[in-house]
Amino acid sequence: MAKVAFIGLGNMGGPMAVNLVKAGHQVTAFDLSVNALAQVKAEGAAVASSAADAVAGADFVISMLPAAKHVLSLYLGEQGIATHIDKKALVIDCSTIDADSARKLGAALAEQGLAFIDAPVSGGVGGAKAGTLTFIVGGSDADFERAKTVLSNMGKNLFHAGAVGAGQVAKICNNMLLSILMVGTSEALQMGIDNGLDPKVLSEIMLKSSGRNWTLELYNPCPDVLPNVPSSNGYQGGFMVDLMVKDLGLALEASLQSGSSTPLGALARSLYVAHQRAGNGKLDFSSIFTSFEKIKN
Ligand code: NAD
Repeated sequence: MAKVAFIGLGNMGGPMAVNLVKAGHQVTAFDLSVNALAQVKAEGAAVASSAADAVAGADFVISMLPAAKHVLSLYLGEQGIATHIDKKALVIDCSTIDADSARKLGAALAEQGLAFIDAPVSGGVGGAKAGTLTFIVGGSDADFERAKTVLSNMGKNLFHAGAVGAGQVAKICNNMLLSILMVGTSEALQMGIDNGLDPKVLSEIMLKSSGRNWTLELYNPCPDVLPNVPSSNGYQGGFMVDLMVKDLGLALEASLQSGSSTPLGALARSLYVAHQRAGNGKLDFSSIFTSFEKIKN
């Protein structure tokens, strides 16, 4: 069993770290939030008083932070923990960030003799809790193999997308598509409701028809169609609108860099930005459904 430092114990990182504890790894956790730390401590993780303390002697250093600025600052900036990491360790960043920042981090760590992979995930908070995440890895063949020791305890599908940064490219392609599916599913369900249909019945029909998709099946945005999803819990938890706006910004930047045409991704980004500006940034991204609802008098 490995010695693992886990930094960033939010909606995703918390349950991921707990699954490593359950698998028998020796996990030392750090987060800026005292509450987040208390939750993983209650599940058996050791907690450190700083990120630098957490990484001491670790075989694997895993980070799960909101955005690139947090990741770069953790390893290279203010917190600057790179110099505290053991040379034998593999650094695994599971946050969703832009590919350029992942490559910059990989190169900076390599200069210090440290191995690095980007390993963003798909599968949401449900997948993080169940240990069924999809990991999309960018890095060398050898580091991908080495990472399986810990990734296999948090996820079910492990993909090697290519060199460092490739995991992030695949991840933002996926999230751009996810946002488009969420918007499309929301408007279709609301149109059905507006025309007198029961959203549960309509969902069942579309699940057996050609409109079937992940958001409809496992993350239905209409309240009370599915149990245990954010829409049935006031859109709390899950994947925040703020984070989806970040990912759609990353997708837009990538499409500008590569000269790709992504009209629906650009439209989804605008819709999510408007939804965020209306005060919904902390709600789950399926709350975009409410922007299609009739105002109730
Ligand atoms: P979150 O905001 O719930 O958690 C982030 C955690 O990082 C917080 O607990 C915060 O206190 C901590 N943190 C921030 N800066 C820190 C620092 N410098 N040192 C230590 N801790 C720090 O976010 P999340 O939903 O867990 O998402 C994390 C990443 O995973 C994001 O990049 C997101 O895009 C990605 N992601 C999220 C989901 C999802 O469904 N929530 C799914 C796939 C990918």
